[in-house]
Amino acid sequence: MGIAARFPAVAAAVLLGAALVPASAVAAPVTGPVAVGTGGAVVSDTPESTEAGLAVLRAGGTAADAAVAVAATLGVTDPYVAGLGGGGYLVYYDAKAHKVSTIDGRETAPASAGPDLFLDPATGKPLSFPTAVTSGLSVGVPGMLMTWQQALQRWGRFRLADVLRPAEAVADRGFRVTATLREQTRQNAARFAQFSSTSALFLPGGQLPEVGSTLRNPDLAATYRQIGREGVGALYGGSVGADVVRTVHDLPLAPGATLQPRPGLMQLGDLAAYRALSAAPTHVRYRGLDVYGMAPSSSGGSTVGEALNILGNFDLRDMDRVQALHHYLEASRLAFADRNRYVGDPRYTDVPLAQLLSPGFGRQRACLIDPGHALTSPVAPGNPAGSGDCVPAQPSQARQPDEGTHTNHFVVSDRWGNVASYTNTIEELGGSGIVVPHRGFLLNNELTDFDFTPLQAGVPDPNLPAGGKRPRSSMSPTIVLRGGQPWLALGSPGGATIITTVLQTLVNRVDFGMSLPQAIAAPRASQRNSASTQAEPAFLQDPAVPGLEALGQRFTVNTTSPLDPSITIAPDIGVAAGLEFLGHGQVLAAGEPTRRGGTAAGVVMPRR
Ligand code: GLU
Repeated sequence: MGIAARFPAVAAAVLLGAALVPASAVAAPVTGPVAVGTGGAVVSDTPESTEAGLAVLRAGGTAADAAVAVAATLGVTDPYVAGLGGGGYLVYYDAKAHKVSTIDGRETAPASAGPDLFLDPATGKPLSFPTAVTSGLSVGVPGMLMTWQQALQRWGRFRLADVLRPAEAVADRGFRVTATLREQTRQNAARFAQFSSTSALFLPGGQLPEVGSTLRNPDLAATYRQIGREGVGALYGGSVGADVVRTVHDLPLAPGATLQPRPGLMQLGDLAAYRALSAAPTHVRYRGLDVYGMAPSSSGGSTVGEALNILGNFDLRDMDRVQALHHYLEASRLAFADRNRYVGDPRYTDVPLAQLLSPGFGRQRACLIDPGHALTSPVAPGNPAGSGDCVPAQPSQARQPDEGTHTNHFVVSDRWGNVASYTNTIEELGGSGIVVPHRGFLLNNELTDFDFTPLQAGVPDPNLPAGGKRPRSSMSPTIVLRGGQPWLALGSPGGATIITTVLQTLVNRVDFGMSLPQAIAAPRASQRNSASTQAEPAFLQDPAVPGLEALGQRFTVNTTSPLDPSITIAPDIGVAAGLEFLGHGQVLAAGEPTRRGGTAAGVVMPRR
């Protein structure tokens, strides 16, 4: 029997409201990137969200209960990448059932959307990416809250109202503005200033918030409280939903706004029709491990899985570092060619998932890797239904999709051995830029993850917009079992670089023998079937790089915003969070030491 059923509602509320949200939830003690201990663990982007999860674990919550508390708190403290206005994907290991399951909480296109969603009616040409992002048109029906509800129903012990309480407390009291939040605000200041609701919340007095000042969000606290009272119907058909719909149609433009963003299509019926889906996880075997990931509508599980299947044909440990990295880059290059061609929302397009993840297809693609030379991108997709023979690599004319690069990933485990690996997003940093007036949360721009037009003329594109369809994601929440027991939980933000970050971290841990903290901290490179591989500056210091360049690998460092090339951004790739289960209930919790200002790892009972 769940704790909510055993205790009267009031008792449960007191338990969570009073005992679980100490003042320290604001000046939280959890700050380091690594923690080891027992009783459960959390790694998330901010100290407050990690502390909220730990508080729920201490009170007897499961990993699912704690995950909802973390996600809701991130809606307060990580407002430009997560929250009620977005969606995400949850991969969950249920210890009692010995089973990995998933929840697909991806946003959907409104029913009235068609393939011309992002075409300018005046010209028939696609809108520019920045124009589409900052608009009502890009706002998908949010799936976040339905994911929370489903996670609690399937694996929780607490009620939604109870696990929202830590987030309400942080929103009411406020939290300390960090250099990271100020920098994220700077990158968005021009477009946030276009919307009165957004500037009122995030540009106090028309200025960037000072580092060290307190950011409060009483509107969001009230929204959470209303959802706690009324249930998820408050959003999916109720008055919170009505406010979302009003906002996307009647954009809250600031006096003197210079942009004329396009309004959106969402109706209350779209919210009422929203469903979170429970797809079977993807599964591949790699070096004797069972790797579970997110199935389409995300391309995360299929692309990480295919790349691992390709790499499974080689012994990276026997190679020198140049060859091992060359194989990592080439496997990723080939897997991305297949992802772009074949993966979309499986309810709308026939995704050959089993073939993409078959070891035979991995062999067929692996045979294209030339140890003496990098392939020329874009390489053409393979034929997953093919004979398995080695078909020479063909060049392709396909464009690479435009994709955003910001969200967050967090991981949670509990004392029973349940594990949650959960990636949250509103797509771009700052989403659509539109805060729902008096509700305290930003709306996503997830629909810009659709291809606006086919990537290649004459070739079917699985990721064109359609009514009710989910745009293809790259989110890759991952859980790895060893000998049937959880060994690793892992994920990252970073748009399409999510896939390579998860892949590289796995290769670092499994093949290169790094510890999990080392595997996460190591410099990254992301090859996505493009002529040049995106790299962090520190990766270019790797002694293997000249050898890779001699093989024809090319590298570029990205330092500009996809929304505005005049805005500089940190050239980081991904912000990973992971857990490693050490046996005897011990967990190693590992986040980022420096990327995005460092992330917060914590355990219920630290090892002494
Ligand atoms: N919209 C991205 C995706 O679904 C995630 C956002 C990000 O990390 O950039 O793949």
